[in-house]
Amino acid sequence: MQSTGTNVKTYLNYIDGEWASGIFNKTDKSINPANKNEIVGYIQHSAIEDLDQAVISAKKAQLSWSQQSGAIRGEYLYKAADILEKRLNDIAETMTREMGKTLNEAKAETARGVSILRYYGGEGVRKVGDVIPSTDSEALMFTTRVPLGVVGVITPWNFPVAIPIWKIAPALIYGNSVIFKPAQETAVTASKVVECFHEAKIPKGVINMVTGSGSIIGQGIVDNRSINGITFTGSGEVGKQVGLGAFKRGAKYQLEMGGKNPLIVVNDADLDQAVDAAISGGLRSTGQKCTATSRVIVQSGIYETFKEKLIKKVKEIRVGNGLNEETWMGPCASENQLNTVLSYIDKGVEEGAKLIYGGKRVESGECKEGFYIEPSVFENIHSKMTIAQEEIFGPVLALMKFETIEEALQIANDVQYGLSASIFTKDISKMLSFINEMDAGLIRINSESAGVELQAPFGGMKQSSSHSREQGQAAIEFFTSIKTVFVKS
Ligand code: NAD
Repeated sequence: MQSTGTNVKTYLNYIDGEWASGIFNKTDKSINPANKNEIVGYIQHSAIEDLDQAVISAKKAQLSWSQQSGAIRGEYLYKAADILEKRLNDIAETMTREMGKTLNEAKAETARGVSILRYYGGEGVRKVGDVIPSTDSEALMFTTRVPLGVVGVITPWNFPVAIPIWKIAPALIYGNSVIFKPAQETAVTASKVVECFHEAKIPKGVINMVTGSGSIIGQGIVDNRSINGITFTGSGEVGKQVGLGAFKRGAKYQLEMGGKNPLIVVNDADLDQAVDAAISGGLRSTGQKCTATSRVIVQSGIYETFKEKLIKKVKEIRVGNGLNEETWMGPCASENQLNTVLSYIDKGVEEGAKLIYGGKRVESGECKEGFYIEPSVFENIHSKMTIAQEEIFGPVLALMKFETIEEALQIANDVQYGLSASIFTKDISKMLSFINEMDAGLIRINSESAGVELQAPFGGMKQSSSHSREQGQAAIEFFTSIKTVFVKS
């Protein structure tokens, strides 16, 4: 790493096993959203020429990497996991300083990164194909899997350790090489993740990181004909562009995009549990999770009691710097994000929804220099309002009322997204209706919408995701191609 005179580090690209500044030596600042005067680091604002170098290196490295056994590739992932685990506190603190989530959440996310690396380390020695009986009794027919080649990994800022790792680890274990383009907002954290692979002495060129803008480096990945597959997580708007560009040139692509996740609370639910799930699922990480609860759809018989309990707890939420132990909710990740959330709140009021708590920027005390907002709750929402339809990606809950389970499902499904959905009820028939009729890739019963387990398929329906699922063994679908082999003596 280079240091500047002010002791703020400059982080470099990682190309062909070396740390390198961008060809034009241009950098961007990464700012602490809890205190806009603090620069967390300088990162490269790379040019397309830097990406081209990375692609040449990745292409060169991929063949010999794929010829290693899965067990050997797994050893590198295990080593990177050990290094990440040793550096957990430092990396988690960097994450909190760079995007604002509380230190406890950042530590849990980094620990998740360690577990994902270990999980995929083991995948190197697990089954990749099937024997299929041939109609020719003298032949052997089976399937095997081969890597795609060079894979582009484009990630958002909200999970700057876990999301890159849950893409990079399966890409590597199945024999691909990687071009990683993290969100510029969290590129310092991303650099520290890549350092773990570097320290694990992963062969040069197998993983490359190029930081920079989405419109240059992200788009460059989409357009580069030597990149065989693109795995993207981010907004729907950008995701669709990525998918279209990849499709046009015949590259494989996988898109994980937004959510507008419902939590249905039925009259018979355990109300305290449901209130906790609404708060944790909707407001943790300042609502900046793709699986965050944003619509709380409550049956009329318990609506008023639920609302009272919810507001009582929301009032107790301590907003502040994520590095302070007492903080429950940190700032929005950027000024841009704060302004987006505030404009959705204005839109909600304008369209006739009733703001029953919060809604304002927090600028007092320790929050003075940061991008803080109150946790906010609306009611009197109808399904066609903007705040009931669009992903806000902030700490805003929309309370909606229903009479029958059919009506609840109709409201819950009445959006373009279908990522995660949860219901609180003790009635098995309502659970079954929910499992069968809810359009969502992740169905959660008596549990908040925002839980993810690394060994299970992750992804959504409708405009939340496209193509094969991420995580667990499902990841093999994207990161490999199937070969059907027919052998006869
Ligand atoms: P974003 O779409 O703005 O950016 C995501 C990534 O794409 C960044 O690295 C960005 O630089 C890059 N990018 C921007 N323009 C590009 C272009 N033209 N071509 C290629 N790449 C480009 O998203 P964000 O603001 O970083 O993240 C928030 C979004 O991510 C939310 O919508 C959220 O729901 C979504 N998200 C989804 C999941 C999921 O698994 N479904 C998980 C986390 C976040």
